[in-house]
Amino acid sequence: MSAPTCETPATIDADVGIVGAGPGGMAAALRIAEAGLSVVILDEGSRPGGQIFRQLPDGFVHANPPAEPPSHDAGHDLLHAISGATVRIEQRATVWDATPPRGDEPGRLWFEQGSASRLLRCKAIVLAPGALDRCVPFPGWTLPGVITAGAAQVMVRGYGIKPGARAVVAGSGPLLLPTVTALASAGVKVVAALEAAPRIAALRALPGVLRSGARLREAMFYARQLWRTGVTLQFSHAVFAAEGDGCVQRAVIGKLDREGNPIRSSAKSIDVDVVCTGYGLVPSIEIGQRLGCKAVWNEARGGWHIEALSFGATNVERVFAVGEIAGIGGSEVAIAEGHATGAMVAGILQQRPVLSALRDRATSVRRAADAMLRAFVVPKGVFSLAGDDTIVCRCEDVSAACVRDAARLHGDSLRAIKMGCRAGMGPCQGRMCTPNVQAIATRGSCQQWDEPVAQVPLKPVRTQTILSAPTK
Ligand SMILES: Cc1cc2nc3c(=O)[nH]c(=O)nc-3n(C[C@H](O)[C@H](O)[C@H](O)COP(=O)(O)OP(=O)(O)OC[C@H]3O[C@@H](n4cnc5c(N)ncnc54)[C@H](O)[C@@H]3O)c2cc1C
Repeated sequence: MSAPTCETPATIDADVGIVGAGPGGMAAALRIAEAGLSVVILDEGSRPGGQIFRQLPDGFVHANPPAEPPSHDAGHDLLHAISGATVRIEQRATVWDATPPRGDEPGRLWFEQGSASRLLRCKAIVLAPGALDRCVPFPGWTLPGVITAGAAQVMVRGYGIKPGARAVVAGSGPLLLPTVTALASAGVKVVAALEAAPRIAALRALPGVLRSGARLREAMFYARQLWRTGVTLQFSHAVFAAEGDGCVQRAVIGKLDREGNPIRSSAKSIDVDVVCTGYGLVPSIEIGQRLGCKAVWNEARGGWHIEALSFGATNVERVFAVGEIAGIGGSEVAIAEGHATGAMVAGILQQRPVLSALRDRATSVRRAADAMLRAFVVPKGVFSLAGDDTIVCRCEDVSAACVRDAARLHGDSLRAIKMGCRAGMGPCQGRMCTPNVQAIATRGSCQQWDEPVAQVPLKPVRTQTILSAPTK
C-alpha cells in the first residue's frame, strides 16, 4: 500500500484503474491481477475494506470489539487475498475527476493524495465507490448527538468509540439491526429501535432472505444478537424530533400511519443523548455520470444508480460498475459482481472468453437483494416530518419552507429548486440532500425524481490540487 512521498510520480499507468477498495473493488482487482494484468485501486480511506469490512486505522485498538456477523468471513478472505496479490492500492487517494478510455487514448482518473495532485492512466476503469447514508430530515436533526446509522457503526466498529450513553435508533431497512447491535455491544443503552416500515415488510422481505444462504445466516445472527440486547424493533415508528439545549437530550418518537405520515397524537418523549437515523443508502453515482454512464431509477436500489449490464458493463466502452454504485444490494452482491466484472475486464483486455457462471451468480444474488430491499422502500409520509424551519440542505442552510417556496415559484425540478434557493450548491454538491430536497418539494410523491448532475470536483479537494493537476 502506498503513501505519497516526494519520489512518488505524479502520473502512473496501469492496465486497469479501480475506484474503491471495498468488497466490490477488491474482488474485481483480485481477478484482474490473477490474469497477470497490472491493476491500481484508488481509495480515499486509510486502509482497504470499504464500509462493511472497515479496518481499524493504524494505532487504534478495540477495547471491546463487537461480535462479527458471518458476512465478515468473506471480508477477511478478501483482505487476506489482496494483501498477498500484485494489486497496488493507493490509500487516502480521493478521485475528483475522470475521463473514459477512447480508442488508443487511456482513461484518466485524477486524484488528490496528501498534498499531491496525481493522475492514473488506464485501459479500463472499474467503478466501485459504494454509497452514502440516507437521512430523512426532522426537527432537531442538525443537533450534535444526531448521527447516521452508518456513522454510529463507523464510530463503534471502525474506531472503538462509544457515541453516547442512551440512544434511539430509527429509520428503515436491514442496516438498523447491525446499528442496534453494534451500539449495544459498545455499552450504549439502546432505549428504542424504530423501523418506519410496517411489520408486514419483514414478511415481504423474507423470500429475498431465503433465496440467499449467506443472507439467511446474517439475518439469524442479527436476530440472536437483538434478542440478547433485549431491544424490540417497533414497526411503523419513527423519531419525530430531537430536542435539547445545544445537543440532544430528548427524542420525540411516535407511530406512523400506512403512508408513513406521523400520527402526532401518539408522540412521546424519551431521554437519550444519541439519535441514530438511517433510511437506507443512496448509491454514489457522480463519478459514473462524469464518465458518461447511464443512470437509471429504481427505488428499491436506492433511487438513481448506474445501469450495469451483464458482467458490470456500462454503456461506456471499457467502463464498468460494481456493488452499490449499480444499486444498493449489500456486500454479497458487491463481491459477486466484483468477481464477474474483474474476470470480464481481464477477458476483454486479453481477448479471451469468460466463464458465464460468474455472471449467473452475480445476477442471482442481485435478484435476491432486490426482492429483500423492495420491502423497505422509504415510506413517502416521513418527509412530512420536516417542519417549515427544519434545515434540509445543511451546506447552504436552506430550510424546508425555502425548498417548498422554490418549488411553488419555479417548478419542482431539481434544477429549478437549486436555482430558486441554492439547495445542493454547497461543498457536498447535493450528495447528501438531493433526495430529500426533491421529496420535500414534491411531498414525496414523485415516481422518478430528476437525475442529479455531477459537478467537478466530484469530491471536495484543494484548489491547488485542481490547478496543479497533471494534464496528460
Ligand atoms: C456508512 C455505511 C455503513 C454500512 N454498514 C453495513 C453493515 O454494518 N452491514 C452491512 O451488511 N452493510 C453495511 N453497509 C453496506 C455495505 O457497506 C455495502 O453493501 C458494501 O460495502 C458495498 O461494497 P462496495 O464495494 O460497493 O462499496 P464500499 O464498501 O462502500 O466501498 C467503496 C469504497 O470506495 C471509496 N471511495 C468512494 N468514492 C471515492 C472517491 N471519489 N475516490 C476514492 N475512493 C472513493 C470509499 O472510501 C470506500 O472505501 C454500510 C454502508 C455504509 C455507507
